[in-house]
Amino acid sequence: MRARLASPRFRFRTPLKRQAQTTSKLGTPLFVHQALHDQGNRPGIGAKTTPAQAGLPAENNPINEPLGAVLISTLRIRCVANSLPGEYNKAYQPQQEAQVAQARPTHPHYEADMLSVEDARERILSFFRVLEAEEKPLLQALGQTLAEDIRSPINLPQWANSGMDGYAVRAEDIAGASGSSPRVLPVVGTVAAGQMPARRLEPGTAVRIMTGAPVPPGADTVVAFEDTDELERKASGRGLGEIGILRAEPKGASVRPAGEDVRAGEIVLARGATLSPAGIGVAASVGRTSARVVRRPVVAVLSTGDELQLPGEELAPGKIYDVNGYSVAGAVLKAGGIPNVLGIAPDDPAAMNAKISEGLQADVLITSAGVSKGDYDFVKDVLGERGSVEFWSVRMRPAKPLAFGLLRGPSGRQVPHIGLPGNPVSALVAFEQLCRPALLKMQGRTRLDRPVVEATLEDAIRNSDGRRVYARVWVSRRNGEYVARLTGPQGSNVLTPLSRANGLAICPEDVPVLNAGDKAVVQMIDWPEEAML
Ligand code: AMP
Ligand code: MG
Repeated sequence: MRARLASPRFRFRTPLKRQAQTTSKLGTPLFVHQALHDQGNRPGIGAKTTPAQAGLPAENNPINEPLGAVLISTLRIRCVANSLPGEYNKAYQPQQEAQVAQARPTHPHYEADMLSVEDARERILSFFRVLEAEEKPLLQALGQTLAEDIRSPINLPQWANSGMDGYAVRAEDIAGASGSSPRVLPVVGTVAAGQMPARRLEPGTAVRIMTGAPVPPGADTVVAFEDTDELERKASGRGLGEIGILRAEPKGASVRPAGEDVRAGEIVLARGATLSPAGIGVAASVGRTSARVVRRPVVAVLSTGDELQLPGEELAPGKIYDVNGYSVAGAVLKAGGIPNVLGIAPDDPAAMNAKISEGLQADVLITSAGVSKGDYDFVKDVLGERGSVEFWSVRMRPAKPLAFGLLRGPSGRQVPHIGLPGNPVSALVAFEQLCRPALLKMQGRTRLDRPVVEATLEDAIRNSDGRRVYARVWVSRRNGEYVARLTGPQGSNVLTPLSRANGLAICPEDVPVLNAGDKAVVQMIDWPEEAML
């Protein structure tokens, strides 16, 4: 397998470009242009390169079309458009396309073959599938995606039952009752929760009843204890042979009708739903103890580099502790995956090969480090022998360099490999943008984007080289508006500011600086994808 996919440089023909721009609903062609621009100038994969030609197995590619065509199709353009929130476009509309087109090629750091974040993400996503279903005990299935519709075999509630501790009566027997004019009824029995009433309620009588207990046939209304003279009767030692009703409750008061929540045969939880605490409660309420859910992906996490040592050991001179083994595995856990932490592979082919063999038991292998230029030759050799590997430059800061490939797993299974950059902030930001969506997709989730808010910046964010900047910020609400401040220095090696951040504020590719007071789109990295704004 070639390490880099070679094919002639592909340039856009005008009609395609025009079609893409007119089908976009963005209101500005800026980002569409960008997507086209990126793709059109990227050497390597041409519009006509099929997945097979690119060495990528067709069965793992959802759209069996030439890669370039997939990426520049109307569908694709809409993906780019949809993944950018409305605010993003509104806020930066003044950045004119002409200006952008002019600025890029002359920029000192301009790299024509960089992939946009969206392109990198879509390419990666195209190699991931929803995993198989498994039957799991309800509690263990919490957070997983239902792979079946759960139907109720019963009505819920099964019978009309009391919503209060009180007395079951007929509404017509207590008409006109009040504190000054109680209706006194003989008490003919008691029904506790978990019992069925012994007999029908005869007109002119009352039955003492507890919350959740079945309302006896013949009764249509429950009067709460507070609206009776029960306390006075008990205090005066008169006993509860009869009860004074102090309130004329309307018919049906405090009676929860049969089938109010669920009718027998109804779907109570639909396939595709993420099982929440209430969800597993609903499944239990219809008698289930387990459910078929999409299984969680096993993710092998491997740190590479001669300089790394495991925390807990005494650091030798020149060495540093392995951060990514922990942080990336933590991110995998938070994304619903099962991390298999492989530890450290030093920069040595034999050691690396052994670790990769272990990693190929997983659904996906995530490595960190060794993917930046000048560094990746060794990684390229080792991975190239086991499948395909491409090295990408993604137009983002941090986390420009990235490796992606498909490795041969046991019995010919293709195992996607994502090679994150080594700097700890880069590794996590790249995970957030490119790995997390893939892990969610494998779990059958359909919302793959974190929610975004528009926040007023309290600090400037600078963009020195035309990449999309993800600045580590803390977002809070002030006077009903979101404000965002940087949580510390923004170097890709400086991890503590990320540990204090709840958002990544975006300075777009084409904006050289966002000043304090400017609005920025902020990706909320501690909000679930399902959060609605
Ligand atoms: P590399 O991608 O190999 O060039 O590494 C970039 C930077 O990240 C270097 O300073 C490495 O020492 C550092 N680095 C790589 N892997 C890790 C890791 N697992 N934990 C902490 N730092 C790392
Ligand atoms: Mg290294």
